Amino acid sequence: MINKDRIVKTFCEISEIDSPSGEEDIIAEKLINLLKGFGLNVFKDDYGNVIANDGRDNPIMLSAHMDTVEPSRGVVPVVDGDKIVSEGNTIVGADAKCGIAAILEALESVKEDNNVTHPIEVVFTKEEEIALLGARNLDFSKIKSKEALVFDSEGPPNRIVSMSPTYVSFDISVKGIGAHAGVEPEKGLSAILIGSHIMSKMPQGRLDPHTTFNVGLVDGGTVRNAVPEDIIIKGEFRTSDDKIITDLKSNIKYAVTSTKKEFPEALIDLHLNTDFETYSVDSEDSTFIKVEKAIGEIGLKPVLKDSGAGTDGNIFRKNGIKAVVVGMGANHMHTLDEYVNISDLFNAAKVCEKFILK
Ligand SMILES: [Zn+2]
Repeated sequence: MINKDRIVKTFCEISEIDSPSGEEDIIAEKLINLLKGFGLNVFKDDYGNVIANDGRDNPIMLSAHMDTVEPSRGVVPVVDGDKIVSEGNTIVGADAKCGIAAILEALESVKEDNNVTHPIEVVFTKEEEIALLGARNLDFSKIKSKEALVFDSEGPPNRIVSMSPTYVSFDISVKGIGAHAGVEPEKGLSAILIGSHIMSKMPQGRLDPHTTFNVGLVDGGTVRNAVPEDIIIKGEFRTSDDKIITDLKSNIKYAVTSTKKEFPEALIDLHLNTDFETYSVDSEDSTFIKVEKAIGEIGLKPVLKDSGAGTDGNIFRKNGIKAVVVGMGANHMHTLDEYVNISDLFNAAKVCEKFILK
């Protein structure tokens, strides 16, 4: 049976292990040992993702990511009523260690009760928080599942991500001409001025209910009294609408090319990259139906919610695995106020168990 004290203990144990993105080796070793304890075949792929299976055909996948955002070193988890918070100035690692704890608790519970389950595959990825790198580099030749339950969303486990957007990032670098600002500014060409022309031709903020656009980083100039030679502009947009993807890409290209015409002496470089692609889950989706059933079996009602973010689910979907992403009891993710709602974490383990039970 799913055990509340045990899942809280498991969460706290893994929350104490430092695992910022790119430094998942120690937590991976711990998880490999735990998974072996459930009698699973466990290995790491070449990239460092942890994969486990029970050797049977047509498995269903359970997945969460091992890495956490900073500041996440030296986390001291504290149980405070129905919450687990961090002591001090770190996140608590609810994202996505709640998911890992829920999966481990479900596996522990079915083992102790000698329950018959569907064939199971477990994937704990690394570097989800840096543009889904772990999932992107996952060795899919070693993955047999066609369906996946992914724990990586805020709130209770009956909250299902119904849509995740396409994410396009862009980098614009401008090279102008440096000069002394007081002695010979006429010989200079301000990269910052050019950058501001480019930015003024791009939209910002929420453009429609499913589209957002942001310039998040501008880095230019060196000192107050020099005409700045360089500027770098980093931005992103997210949308679920294919036409808007094309339109916004054209808009960015136009901002660059038209500014180039205004400042022919400047060198302007644009890089656009589609980091991950949109998906949506409909009521006919076979994995969605299974997840909905598991949620119903523990007495909760599924709540569909569009997301503005991507998860490993986007990459799994792109690779032919019908992934459904659910809440895991995490709240205020990516902030120092992050906390675990213990009742939701407990229910996440219950949903996970129902999902794998035959
Ligand atoms: Zn996450």
